[in-house]
Amino acid sequence: MPEVAYVNGVYGPIGEATVSIEDRGFQFGDGVYEVVFSYGGKMFLLDAHLQRLQRSLTDIGISYDFDAAPLGPIIEEGLVRSGFSDAMIYLQVTRGVAPRQHAIPRSITPTVVMTFKAMPIFPEEMRESGVKVMSTRDGRWAKCYIKAITLLPNVLAKSEARRRGCYEAVFVTETGEVRECTSSNIYIVRDGRVTTPPRTQSVLHGITQSFLFACAASVGCELKEEVFNFETLRAADEVFVSSTAVEVLGVTTLDGEPIGDGKVGPVTRRMYEAFRRGVRG
Ligand code: PMP
Repeated sequence: MPEVAYVNGVYGPIGEATVSIEDRGFQFGDGVYEVVFSYGGKMFLLDAHLQRLQRSLTDIGISYDFDAAPLGPIIEEGLVRSGFSDAMIYLQVTRGVAPRQHAIPRSITPTVVMTFKAMPIFPEEMRESGVKVMSTRDGRWAKCYIKAITLLPNVLAKSEARRRGCYEAVFVTETGEVRECTSSNIYIVRDGRVTTPPRTQSVLHGITQSFLFACAASVGCELKEEVFNFETLRAADEVFVSSTAVEVLGVTTLDGEPIGDGKVGPVTRRMYEAFRRGVRG
């Protein structure tokens, strides 16, 4: 099956797709993105992803004309061209190409790039055994709700996590508030209740997270937004993370110490089941 790329109206093999070195995405990280999965040939929560993309674009002042060139059909066509039914679609819109200067030039056309690849297979044993997480100081900017391609703090923290044998790093503020992980949202379970940090401007409002809010009740779980600190995270009965890529994934170790009994807990399993049912449904 071919991995397909799309660049400004043109589909082709990924290896042949190019953008200018003067693209502001390349020069400044001046752009936003989405990662969307297709299950069995059907895009999952595409509208929600496109709405978030639109908000990200608006809030950094990139004007992409969604009416003139709706992204939905472009994505659907790329998916068909790739032939993948379980697919991972990466979608990026940058401000466009212009001679390098910090100030945003007046008339500039956004660059739209997509890639269509097979959905990465998530190791089942990892889902069963849960993953290790390390904590790290949140030194990111104040607008993490914008899904910007400027991800250096996330990249460095995730790499540090991998060096230490962890799957993820959780961002904790100077005052001890837990925010989210480098590429996933985080949840704690206490006395059967599930809590996730409030969806303020300081965290990405996960599409998987929104979906879990909608379906938690169907598996008898209560899910709420609430501020919690690192000590509360450490003392939780269960911890899990969510994202498009990992769906719902149990966390069993934090900074080398077990969470609860060190196993993936029953509430995490129920939330995962709720997610899977949603995918099938
Ligand atoms: N937080 C961050 C920082 C992320 O990068 C991601 C993944 N894009 C998430 C949360 C989860 O978001 P979603 O469920 O939309 O994939």
